[in-house]
Amino acid sequence: MMTQAIIIAGIFGACMGSFLNVVAHRSIQGRSWAGNDRSICESCGHVLGAYELIPILSWLLQRGKCRHCGAKISVRYVLVEIICAALAMTIIYRWGISWASLIVGVGACGLVLNSLTDFESGDVFDIFAVAPGVVCLLLRIAGGKWAVLDGLAGAASGWGIFAVIIVLSRGGMGWGDAVFMAGVGAVMGLKLTLFSFYAGIMAGGFFAVAMMIIGRLHWGKGETLPLVPFLAIGCFITMIFGPEIFSYLSERYIFSEYLSLSWPFTN
Ligand SMILES: [Zn+2]
Repeated sequence: MMTQAIIIAGIFGACMGSFLNVVAHRSIQGRSWAGNDRSICESCGHVLGAYELIPILSWLLQRGKCRHCGAKISVRYVLVEIICAALAMTIIYRWGISWASLIVGVGACGLVLNSLTDFESGDVFDIFAVAPGVVCLLLRIAGGKWAVLDGLAGAASGWGIFAVIIVLSRGGMGWGDAVFMAGVGAVMGLKLTLFSFYAGIMAGGFFAVAMMIIGRLHWGKGETLPLVPFLAIGCFITMIFGPEIFSYLSERYIFSEYLSLSWPFTN
């Protein structure tokens, strides 16, 4: 039963990745993605048929090229599909068929969308952070009053951390990052949001230092890294391993009674 669920999750995740690719790409171009605007080859304008829209497989069968004009199709699209399949399988493996899986799944769509737009254009679209946050606040109703309040506290803390940083650093980070973290906060609740922020900043910091060591990034020259993909990595790790991380901390440190997680991430 579990194996089938994980396989179905992988297929669903790959399809979701394909859809999120389109949404992110069209949003950056300012085009509508909700209408019946068919997918076309960006080089020759050929309308893609069903056979050319199968996630992962189409790209492999066509060896990364358009069937009509032979133009290369970026490996990035298929990488996103593979990553989304892996994320979906990880979620079901960890959380099974549960409210936590549903909430983490909705949240993960927001993480992927915002990472894609931030990576490609440096823009965070508020709607891609706010929509998953609102959906998860509504899902939290199933967990009762405290679950909803925890989501609101998460949103407030996620936004608040960045508001403080933005004010103190006089524009070192953008308000897009604050809105992103507010949406994530509603998905994750207070404690996981705080840990996600820590994990995301650490991931970004290590990556930046590594890039400086190999000479691809230079200190103080106005070069910037997109922050959202790193925050997203921190969030996803926390969504999966949060309970283990918090029970590890509570075994070793004081305040252990404050480290238990609330619905739906209960230990
Ligand atoms: Zn073509």
